[in-house]
Amino acid sequence: RTVYLNGDYLPETEAKISIFDRGFLMADGVYEVTSVLDGKLIDFGGHCVRLARSLSELEMQNPHSDAEWLAIHRELVAKNAITDGMVYLQVTRGNPGDRDFAYPSEDVTPTVVLFTQNKPGLADNPVAKVGFKVISIPDIRWGRRDIKTVQLLYPSMGKMAAKKAGVDDSWFVEEGVVTEGTSNNAYIVKGNKIITRALSSDILHGITRAAVLRFAVEAQMEVEERAFSIAEAQAADEAFITSASAFVMPVVEIDGASVGTGKPGHIVARLREIYLDEMRKAAV
Ligand code: PLP
Repeated sequence: RTVYLNGDYLPETEAKISIFDRGFLMADGVYEVTSVLDGKLIDFGGHCVRLARSLSELEMQNPHSDAEWLAIHRELVAKNAITDGMVYLQVTRGNPGDRDFAYPSEDVTPTVVLFTQNKPGLADNPVAKVGFKVISIPDIRWGRRDIKTVQLLYPSMGKMAAKKAGVDDSWFVEEGVVTEGTSNNAYIVKGNKIITRALSSDILHGITRAAVLRFAVEAQMEVEERAFSIAEAQAADEAFITSASAFVMPVVEIDGASVGTGKPGHIVARLREIYLDEMRKAAV
């Protein structure tokens, strides 16, 4: 695989980073994951806007313009001959040459890493026909979940808890209501209404969430942005998650209880179809 590191395209075995990089020592960095379908980038503008916001919240300079980011993404997709897959981008605060809690001075240059993952048939994932099963676990993450940092240990623990329970993912619960999934936003459907938690620092501002809610309104569905409990989700007609890599994925079981018929519902199927159609059209 060819990867990108600080301006160079290199074989992955030749890409080397300092042990003093703050991404390594302090999880001091942010990331984005952009899907590639038919060789094109999905919702690239959305990723650029969020990347800029994450960097600014952490008082880091954005090392590239959106046009430069696009050129790097395209070059990597081409070099790795990706038709369907992902581009992972990470910017860390870089290597100050020693370990210190305080941020280094601004002349320390950020470390920029990008790599691709090949996922043939990404949009035809057969799991979308079956749906996810999830369990709930307490949300004990930090309070700035709106910043897409590389500090992903608790989400990893959530995935492991799901794996051990024989299900697909975990939903985080705080103060009796769902915040989001380990790496996705969470929704329920009641009649014609889509219900999902409102944006705040309690959740990541999913760019798939923004697009799906826009398409839902355009398709004459109702959208209500409020929190819901596990009990309310178990009693809903349908449930689903969204993320840039899973797109729109039905959730058919929560803590052992079937949602609706226990099969993916028609509203979720429709949203997935609209999302994929529209985003393919807008891909760059
Ligand atoms: N919530 C969390 C915690 C995530 O990690 C992610 C994606 O990685 C999402 C939500 C979904 O965001 P997006 O739709 O931008 O991929």
